[in-house]
Amino acid sequence: MSADCIFCKIIKRELDADIVYEDEYAVAFKDINPAAPVHILIVPREHIPTIMDVEKSNEKLIGHLHLVANEVARAFKLGKKGYRLVINCGADAGQIVFHLHLHLLGGRPLLQTIAKGRGV
Ligand code: 5GP
Ligand code: ZN
Repeated sequence: MSADCIFCKIIKRELDADIVYEDEYAVAFKDINPAAPVHILIVPREHIPTIMDVEKSNEKLIGHLHLVANEVARAFKLGKKGYRLVINCGADAGQIVFHLHLHLLGGRPLLQTIAKGRGV
């Protein structure tokens, strides 16, 4: 946990968020500024700043986050229509919250481009 991390605060229930899924290792909640009809952030409970900080010991956790994404996608009826998973890493990708997270975006056709949350 990191004391001044927004997502750690959401995980600890010190900050409000619309939590849609949680388990021992991960929490998923709605993005406060959605870029698509469905925009969910999937975060590990463990404070890992970026995907570059992931270590061998986190290998299972990274796989787990993807299974959580699939489960959330099914819950939001995106299983058939599809969705996009995005991980922004560092300044050039526009990462603004330095607690690893997957963006799950869907609910409308997304542009056929490699893009981050905004304008996809
Ligand atoms: P990044 O650019 O770091 O990949 O994306 C961070 C995301 O977190 C942004 O899409 C932003 O809207 C979202 N976000 C930032 N602060 C909060 C917050 O306090 N609550 C929620 N639910 N989402 C947040
Ligand atoms: Zn954190």
